[in-house]
Amino acid sequence: METDCLFCKIVNKDIESDFLYEDDTVVVFRDINPHAPIHILIVPKKHIRSINDLTDHDGEIVARMIAVAKKIAKKESINESGYKLLFNVEKGGGQVIFHLHLHLLGGWKKNKS
Ligand code: 5GP
Ligand code: ZN
Repeated sequence: METDCLFCKIVNKDIESDFLYEDDTVVVFRDINPHAPIHILIVPKKHIRSINDLTDHDGEIVARMIAVAKKIAKKESINESGYKLLFNVEKGGGQVIFHLHLHLLGGWKKNKS
């Protein structure tokens, strides 16, 4: 837990949020400023700054994040239409919250052609 970290506060329920899912490793909630009709964040409970800060011991965390993203995509009925999974890494990569998170984006209208 980093005291100045917004996502640590959300993970620890110091800030109220509606979790779509929670287990021992991750929490999942909707992005406050969605960039797609469905925009969900998968956030590890452990404070890790970014992909750059992962160690060999964090492999299970990342695997769980992706497995949960897959489950939530199905729950949100975007598994068949398709979706994007995205990590922004550091400022140049668009990261603004320096607590690792995986973006799940989808739900765009089907292309008519
Ligand atoms: P980043 O650019 O760091 O990869 O993404 C951070 C994301 O967190 C942004 O899409 C932003 O809208 C979202 N976000 C920032 N503050 C909050 C918040 O307090 N609650 C929620 N649910 N999302 C947030
Ligand atoms: Zn944190």
